[in-house]
Amino acid sequence: MEISFEDLLILAKTKRADINEARLREVYLFAEKNHAGQIRQTGEGYIIHPLSTAHILASWGLDQASLEAALLHDLPEMAGITTEELQKNFGEEVVRLIEGVNRVGKVKLRGSQNLQFLENLRRMFVAMAQDIRVVLIRLADRLHNISTLDAVPLSKQKRIAIETMEVYAPLAERLGMGRLKGDLEDLAFPYIYPDEYTWLQEIAKPHFKYSEKNVSGIMNKLRQQLVKHGIAARVEGRPKRKYSLYKKLLRPEINRDISKIYDLMAVRVITEDTASCYSALGIIHQYWKPVPNAGISDFIAQPKPNGYQSIHTKIFDNMGNIVEIQIRSEEMHLTAELGAAAHFAYSDAKSHGASDEKLTAGTAFKISEKMSWVKQLAGWQNQVSTAGDNLEDYKLDALSQHIYVFSPNGDVYDLPENSTPIDYAFGVHSDLGHYIQTVKINGRIASLDQPLKSGDIIEVQKSKIMKKPNKNWLRFVKTHKAKEEIRKAVQDQPS
Ligand code: MN
Repeated sequence: MEISFEDLLILAKTKRADINEARLREVYLFAEKNHAGQIRQTGEGYIIHPLSTAHILASWGLDQASLEAALLHDLPEMAGITTEELQKNFGEEVVRLIEGVNRVGKVKLRGSQNLQFLENLRRMFVAMAQDIRVVLIRLADRLHNISTLDAVPLSKQKRIAIETMEVYAPLAERLGMGRLKGDLEDLAFPYIYPDEYTWLQEIAKPHFKYSEKNVSGIMNKLRQQLVKHGIAARVEGRPKRKYSLYKKLLRPEINRDISKIYDLMAVRVITEDTASCYSALGIIHQYWKPVPNAGISDFIAQPKPNGYQSIHTKIFDNMGNIVEIQIRSEEMHLTAELGAAAHFAYSDAKSHGASDEKLTAGTAFKISEKMSWVKQLAGWQNQVSTAGDNLEDYKLDALSQHIYVFSPNGDVYDLPENSTPIDYAFGVHSDLGHYIQTVKINGRIASLDQPLKSGDIIEVQKSKIMKKPNKNWLRFVKTHKAKEEIRKAVQDQPS
């Protein structure tokens, strides 16, 4: 689908009251002019990519600065537009976002792929972003790129798809963005496991058909019952996501038998408020018997760590089939679908009286109680506890006190801010610190006290014989481990 600037404008304005139309148009025309003549691998004009990225962000309700940054994000790389020029034309906030987007874009999947590595890679991404909007813009950019992946050369497709599955989709999940996570996984799935994807399509087709027919009957009866009891609610059917279905089929107790899967089509009841969720549950159980022992999961009373809330129950329909029903309020629904971005969708700070000055400074948005995703992100780094209520929701300070660097093999190491190559060496192995000959950062010889930055690749060239650590290193090392090792070695030294 070809999107136009007018489409973007209409969507943005329906989502937010504070969109500056003239300015957004000016930004768009600047991007269009400077991308002129550039063609995507799909054969379309390049501008369709920044435009689509902005359109996705608008659908999440993101603010003016995010939309502008999305429209401009590829200009430095593609059109050689300098940061200074962008700053002169569009101001500091937008430029900071663009720089962040391009910085995190350089985080690439490489080297080892064990769980800890992937976790560190995702943390590095967030730490480098420093502003939640940067992460959201990158995710929108990736969603558009993976939607048009078939135009990319085969050799690149698989790498991009794996990166999407292993870095971006889990990141979206961390941020509670259920819909985006599902979209990214389902789009990457056929590129990573083409044969399995085809197999799944074939076996699932008749089951989906049956399930759909069955569920639509239940939905109709359920609507009637809710009306009868005076509960205002929407009832909808939701086909299970392809990749999520595939993973479930691989479980040992399922053993690829699709007839054992009960939630091919789940029924979703969306109510006005929390109390109505429990009333709806009562009505459902009056009408259909709950499956014994399959259990009712109350994620309203006990939300999932990423903030997800719903009640899940499994019932027998009149034919004896098991059907899953999910019940949640409108607000829980928005949070489950949009996660971190839901904040933008239901906060219109300006209408709550925040001044323009405060809005520009980004300090008008404070974490509300609903923002469990920020706490979740903060909790991602165990060390953080003091940030409390003063933490601004955009800022990812909690994570930016850490840096993440690569070994030459691509392993990621988590170090405190301003760590040095010595900290890195002791972090890799206590022995390595005793054999430091020279150090290279990103391929260049560097001094031992040079502060490292996230994304740096550190290479320690080992000496042939053991070298005692130097007492002076204690003046600049940051990690406990390095300090301890150096002190121990210095004590042992005959003076
Ligand atoms: Mn891009």
